[in-house]
Amino acid sequence: MRRKYYQTRRIGIIGLGYVGQTLAAFLADGNIVTCYDIDKSRMQKIKESKKGDIKEKDLNLYIHRAMDKNKLYFADSLLEMLDKSLEFLFVTVGTPSYDDGSIDLTAVNSVAMSIGIELSKIKISEYMCPLTIVLKSTVIPGTTREFISIIEKYSKRKEGKDFYVVYNPEFLREGSAINDLEYPQKIVLGGSRKSLKEIKEFYEEYYVDSMGIDGIEEMIISTTYENAELVKYANNAFLATKISFINEIANICEKTPNTDVGVIAEALGLDDRISPKFLRAGLGYGGSCFSKDVEALIKYSKEDALVLKSVFRKNKYQREKPLTITDAWLGKDKTVAILGVAFKPETDDIRDAPAIYLIDVILKGGATVRVYDPEVSAEVLISKFDGNLIVTASAKHALKGADYAIICTEWDEFKKLDPNDFKLLMNKPVLFDGRRIFDPKTFIKAGVTYYGIGHGKHDA
Ligand code: NAD
Repeated sequence: MRRKYYQTRRIGIIGLGYVGQTLAAFLADGNIVTCYDIDKSRMQKIKESKKGDIKEKDLNLYIHRAMDKNKLYFADSLLEMLDKSLEFLFVTVGTPSYDDGSIDLTAVNSVAMSIGIELSKIKISEYMCPLTIVLKSTVIPGTTREFISIIEKYSKRKEGKDFYVVYNPEFLREGSAINDLEYPQKIVLGGSRKSLKEIKEFYEEYYVDSMGIDGIEEMIISTTYENAELVKYANNAFLATKISFINEIANICEKTPNTDVGVIAEALGLDDRISPKFLRAGLGYGGSCFSKDVEALIKYSKEDALVLKSVFRKNKYQREKPLTITDAWLGKDKTVAILGVAFKPETDDIRDAPAIYLIDVILKGGATVRVYDPEVSAEVLISKFDGNLIVTASAKHALKGADYAIICTEWDEFKKLDPNDFKLLMNKPVLFDGRRIFDPKTFIKAGVTYYGIGHGKHDA
């Protein structure tokens, strides 16, 4: 789709995880992109296969095409990447949590140190224009300024003169990452007027064909480092709050006859002040960002973050529901079928997925777990757990001989199962529909013991 009058830029990307891989593949459509990851085997795998090592729509196509057109490269070292007269260097390394929930900035700070050391070896005059370093990892306020001071310390160079640093949080969603990069809803840029100049021009040129200049101007917010850092947390915390909120309403429905949280969410969503998005009741949120970011914000907050703490507790309560509602899972003689492990459909990401939590507790309780997910590999699952875990080749295989089945991910193929599959294949047909994919009445009428989320008892 690129870009009539677009001037090719030289771009570097450090950190080839979910964000880095998709960003590299996307930006290599029109630019020359060089990537670097500390995990050399990961880089090698992508380079040799010309494919991503994560499941993401269109990712393989973009990587393959860019490599064939000599637009996408992999550097053996940071110095090799910086030597390519880069204009922009995007930093997309992970920012995980410590055990107490606070943010672990080890990777960001170590990248800052490495950039500083390597910059000190390069003659600034080799650059056509000063390098703009674009930090995209999700970080708490104050981190970008610390990032700058580490680079300055090790490079003996000055931000604003010898190089620029911008904070530019990423809002892509796994499962639609390339499309989200192609059609962003906002671009938030933190920095000084001087440091933002080059990156703003870059985004304006890059998106002008698809959005028009007015569209881009409306979409770009230029602000302070701290605002840009906090926007990302506020964004994720708000979405997590919506999910915990609808789960609270779902729990109220369960105590209220003749109610269904699906109908209530549909009605709420018609109000354009609310929107229908993120109003699906279920086992709660998972994935690499929501829990980590809500917890990091709670820790960072200098006051008692009452709303965020409740959001977090509600999510924990929700993922424990299949284990508190019945003891059909408890004991050495029990077998539990887990359908779906990825934290949502269209991804193979299992980070903080409710299924991972449930499998762990069930195995520790002594039961056997039969698990199926269409995208998560058996090797990944087997390497994660001790105990009697059997990874099966289909949902029906997982149900065989099970005493309890839990739907953890709403993959389309599970929606095609009918009550007879549960009755005929399971030892006892006890089902927890953690993603509300089935009609409870049909299942109960057919003789399945059905537990769900957000269904009030129906009198009529
Ligand atoms: P990830 O864990 O999937 O990938 C991080 C990559 O960085 C890994 O490949 C790791 O080997 C590499 N890395 C770590 N230290 C390095 C170093 N010193 N030098 C070079 N490479 C190094 O993480 P991710 O999901 O891609 O997320 C990256 C950042 O973006 C995080 O801050 C995250 O919160 C944020 N984010 C993630 C998403 C998402 O959907 N995954 C969306 C928006 C923002």
